[in-house]
Amino acid sequence: MKKGFFPSLCVLIFICLVAVIYIFGEQIESVMAQQGGQQEDNRRLDGKTIVIDPGHGGKDVGSIGQAGTYEKDVALLTAKHIQRELAEQTGATVLLTRDQDETVQLPERVAMAESANADLYISLHYDAYVTKDVSGITTYYHKQEDRQLADILHQSLFQQDLQTKDRGVRQGDYYVIRENRSPAVLLELGYISNANDEQQMNSAQFQKKVTKAIVDGVADYLTL
Ligand SMILES: [Zn+2]
Repeated sequence: MKKGFFPSLCVLIFICLVAVIYIFGEQIESVMAQQGGQQEDNRRLDGKTIVIDPGHGGKDVGSIGQAGTYEKDVALLTAKHIQRELAEQTGATVLLTRDQDETVQLPERVAMAESANADLYISLHYDAYVTKDVSGITTYYHKQEDRQLADILHQSLFQQDLQTKDRGVRQGDYYVIRENRSPAVLLELGYISNANDEQQMNSAQFQKKVTKAIVDGVADYLTL
């Protein structure tokens, strides 16, 4: 062994060790920062109350599809997905105007939002029309000040590459959004009377996309 080789080897090993500690230290730090960020993200709507209103229920079945889908059932399904994901991913308190197949009158639904002092009210429906070719998603608001909420949710829906027509954001005179003191919108998430929309709304993939869109849109709106 040449004189001086051993000390230089030691120096080399030492440099490598320092480099390894430096590189992995940074990685560990960034992973920890990410986790911290995620935890914060999961609590970003702490203290907010959101009411999700699955349309119809009980004796009122809503529209009925060619394949036998009842609007009241698919609306409840979507509402439950949104309730779970919204609560888990944002920390918000998420209430449903009905969590089972029961008749709930419209004034009762609005009263629930009022007594909960809701920060947001989203009514979920699936549309129908006499001719079967009409399809797509429409977002309704009533009060002018709810237009922005409607725009944000509608955009969020169509960021999800839904295989249906964009029927736009419209003003609609529906009781639950007209009489609400909370910011309120009504979503018609597809046409039950259209075979393609009906098939899509019954797919897990569609439900997942809609759920993600609403969670993202609500979080965006309430953290503006
Ligand atoms: Zn409806």
